[in-house]
Amino acid sequence: MPDAETFRCIKCRSTVDTLAFGTTQRNHCNRCLWSRHVDNFPGDRKAACGGPMEPLAVFVAPDGEWMLIHRCKSCGVLHENRIAGDDNLMILMAIAARPLANPPVPLEYLP
Ligand SMILES: [Zn+2]
Ligand SMILES: [Zn+2]
Repeated sequence: MPDAETFRCIKCRSTVDTLAFGTTQRNHCNRCLWSRHVDNFPGDRKAACGGPMEPLAVFVAPDGEWMLIHRCKSCGVLHENRIAGDDNLMILMAIAARPLANPPVPLEYLP
């Protein structure tokens, strides 16, 4: 069990605990879900980039757990992350609904 740490959100400036229900290595803000590009692999803190990472999409893992995809605004890398029990559900739902709100073709063209 790693020691509890906090970091300051790069986006909304709130203080975030790295330890939370459902994860041992939280690397994103539980309020706005933004992250920071500090890992090449989860928890290694080896990435030199340090750019802000935008919450881009959610998907459901084979075990039913929701996963969050972040994209680095500086270098464009994509990372997938486990969500934590106290992550902002409204923002997760909004991200999940985004493709439905912006379908690839106008809905009136569908049969
Ligand atoms: Zn934040
Ligand atoms: Zn980056």
